[in-house]
Amino acid sequence: MRRRLYEKDHEDFREVVREFVDREVVPHQARWDAEHMVDRETWLAAGRQGLLGIAVPEEYGGGGHRDIRYRSVVVEELARVGAASLNSGFSVQDDIFLPYLLHLGSDEQKRRWLPGLVAGELVGAIAMTEPGAGSDLQGVRTTAVREGDAWVLNGSKTFITNGIASDLVIVVARTDPAAGSRGFSLLVVERDMPGFRRGRKLEKMGLVAQDTAELVFEDVRVPAANLLGEEGGGFGHLMDNLPVERITIALQALYAARAVVAWTLDYTGERTAFGKPIAAFQNTQFKLADMVTELDLVQAYVDDCLHAFDEGELTAVEAAKAKLAATETQKRVVDRCLQLFGGYGYMNEYPVSRAFVDARVQTIYGGTSEIMRTIIARDLTGLR
Ligand SMILES: Cc1cc2nc3c(=O)[nH]c(=O)nc-3n(C[C@H](O)[C@H](O)[C@H](O)COP(=O)(O)OP(=O)(O)OC[C@H]3O[C@@H](n4cnc5c(N)ncnc54)[C@H](O)[C@@H]3O)c2cc1C
Repeated sequence: MRRRLYEKDHEDFREVVREFVDREVVPHQARWDAEHMVDRETWLAAGRQGLLGIAVPEEYGGGGHRDIRYRSVVVEELARVGAASLNSGFSVQDDIFLPYLLHLGSDEQKRRWLPGLVAGELVGAIAMTEPGAGSDLQGVRTTAVREGDAWVLNGSKTFITNGIASDLVIVVARTDPAAGSRGFSLLVVERDMPGFRRGRKLEKMGLVAQDTAELVFEDVRVPAANLLGEEGGGFGHLMDNLPVERITIALQALYAARAVVAWTLDYTGERTAFGKPIAAFQNTQFKLADMVTELDLVQAYVDDCLHAFDEGELTAVEAAKAKLAATETQKRVVDRCLQLFGGYGYMNEYPVSRAFVDARVQTIYGGTSEIMRTIIARDLTGLR
């Protein structure tokens, strides 16, 4: 019954990714957690190995693979070692920032930024959320007013992934307050633009190696040449790009949960109580059986979505279903696994403990589970 997702080229690429993960990720994870930041050298090493900009055409230095399965391999291999923070950072770069630039960027913008992003010399972020506007992006209050050949940008954003590391930030701003949802545009703000400053690096319960930050814009003069896509078309551009963001969060959820089940299988096979391995108790066996069954079902749907995406057919509703199912399953699975570790599962030195807190955000960012249900239900009922 199984339709194989990966082909030989993907498996060859997996070897490269696995070697990168063992050499450049595993030895540094504890330090990144303590510093709440991944090293820039890791981005550069990923660039050298061809792990960034996989879908970027070769003329800009990219991998030239318009095949999301390569990204899936990267996500899976990082999840295997519990590197959820780095996974989310790379995902913002490859699954969010780069598609915006590839689909909407002018030739000049592509030439200016793509090679650096592919090399890891430039790190990208996307700034939609504000202190007063998250799920409801129509509430965005950041404004950009046209003055001569520049947009003057004012406002603040929060919870921005790669917020501290970023060299380029796509900022959602209101460029025409009277135009409702047609009044938003996307502007690319560059690291050294006067008036752009980083706020706090935020302290979080999970994804602690991820530099999630506040960003502040005070009279930042953004050249008109940094407008991405259509003036007033920002909202539509966001809607067009959300499915890829959501399907890759679903991938991260699925593979993070698979990794935790694998660790649990090992642990319960070794740990004994009442004279036998924990894995010999029927409760453990039933829990494990339930979890792999649920994950196999999610996998089938997500794999189908990947094929649909590659064929240009993935809809917003399908992506919402994939994100909802995968992230809610991840939360349940990781919680059950932690229980099977007993007290050790609660200790930070056990990766299941980190996986538990890392999983919690998955049903919140990229659109909450409630927003995913709203999208699915509106499609079903036709009611708003
Ligand atoms: C670690 C982390 C990283 C992030 N990275 C980024 C990033 O890189 N860029 C970025 O722009 N944002 C980022 N975010 C922000 C994230 O996308 C938002 O937090 C998320 O969209 C929810 O918005 P909110 O926090 O304002 O919650 P709110 O919108 O205030 O929601 C609060 C609650 O109300 C519910 N709710 C809202 N509307 C409805 C409705 N219509 N029906 C039913 N329930 C509803 C929500 O589901 C939620 O349970 C990140 C967040 C986190 C935690």
